[in-house]
Amino acid sequence: MLSFPELIRKKRDGETLTDDEVKAFVDAVTEKTIQESQIGAMLMAIWQRGMVTTETQTLTRQMMLSGDVMTWPDEWSGRVVDKHSTGGVGDKVSLVLAPALAACGCKVPMISGRGLAHTGGTLDKMESIPGFNINQSADRMLDSVGCCIVGQTKTLVPADRVLYAIRDATSTVDSLALIAGSILSKKGAESLSALVLDVKFGRAALYKDLRSAKELAMLLVETGNALGIRTGAALSCMDAVIGRCVGNSLEVMESLETLKGRGPEDLMELVSTLGGLLLTMTDLVSDLSEGRRKIYDAVIGGAALSKFQAMLEAQGVANQTARSLCSAHNDYFTVLRKSEHQLELKTTSGGTVGDVDGLVLAKILHKLGAGRSKAGESINHSVGAELLVSIGQQVEEGVPWLRLHHDDRVPTDEQIRCLQDAVCVRADTHTHNTHTVVKELLLPQK
Ligand code: URA
Repeated sequence: MLSFPELIRKKRDGETLTDDEVKAFVDAVTEKTIQESQIGAMLMAIWQRGMVTTETQTLTRQMMLSGDVMTWPDEWSGRVVDKHSTGGVGDKVSLVLAPALAACGCKVPMISGRGLAHTGGTLDKMESIPGFNINQSADRMLDSVGCCIVGQTKTLVPADRVLYAIRDATSTVDSLALIAGSILSKKGAESLSALVLDVKFGRAALYKDLRSAKELAMLLVETGNALGIRTGAALSCMDAVIGRCVGNSLEVMESLETLKGRGPEDLMELVSTLGGLLLTMTDLVSDLSEGRRKIYDAVIGGAALSKFQAMLEAQGVANQTARSLCSAHNDYFTVLRKSEHQLELKTTSGGTVGDVDGLVLAKILHKLGAGRSKAGESINHSVGAELLVSIGQQVEEGVPWLRLHHDDRVPTDEQIRCLQDAVCVRADTHTHNTHTVVKELLLPQK
């Protein structure tokens, strides 16, 4: 076996590492028998030179095997599923999708993350519900409820923990091979039957255009399938906001409204399509349109809401609180904390709402306390915003278009100006209300 400096040189010079060499690197990272400077140098060499398909697959498999790999009862075989999103603004899909899939007979061990920079995290959203505990045994939850939303344990893919921190410190996060290894090793350790990836593109996404998002999606689909997980992907547009609410507590409220059959169309489209794809991949339905319909019915008919309530109770929320949140008519603020101040912004002209810049909105909410800049920082769950208009809607001058929820961090005049510039109201009266969010699907080969 080559020494670490020789392995680094080999990758630096554009050669392909063998399976044994990739394994030796990942083992050394896990066992801490390689210097951090050598890890950083190898990551930079991978970033510069990329990896061929087989190297990426071996990297992913070895990272997956660096810690615990979950096991499930035989009777769940073929039905353990999950979804991963590359991150968006107002992305509350998991909160609706996990219970909807459980209501359709799937087992959903959703191991989620926290928000960083301008994108929110599912764990933070769930923790805005008093009592919700993210440290639970997934086996027990899947057995009793069928779904859970939990945090990653220390023993799941320890190699990723080390590599991610060094990628962050060495500007090597945005390497396709390293992203695929990081995302899919964790999904592989969940021992999934099927996985759907929501790869977003647009102004408020990691990838700004469809072409670069598709390149990542294709690599993720190929690597996931090579790992033995039936993997598909949706390429979805992320320019504005998913639904109308952004911010942890407000997104929980919008998710509950959706589970009560009153959700926004774009969120329902994402939930139905991603869920429908998973039901197709698990052979629980015969095609995508049946899958979409089944998920839609589980949400609209209330079966997903019952699962959500059961998940809350099983994850530590008092029965009375869970019942109150899930009852048909509820003042959510009797349970969820409301910010001290709400500020409505008004349109400065009349016409058609053509666009809302989700990135500007998310960055300002982040500064007002909704998100964190460093792992471990505390956040304010009550900070957020409600969009009061939709794209394509006719509005008059002077009508409220945004309700900002904030506490002691008061928006500055400059931030208000940026928010006002983030909504585009066009003088024409033509409505463009019919755009779909999901632009393309990538399905696993049978
Ligand atoms: N999410 C991960 O877990 N890892 C990455 O590299 C990117 C997104």
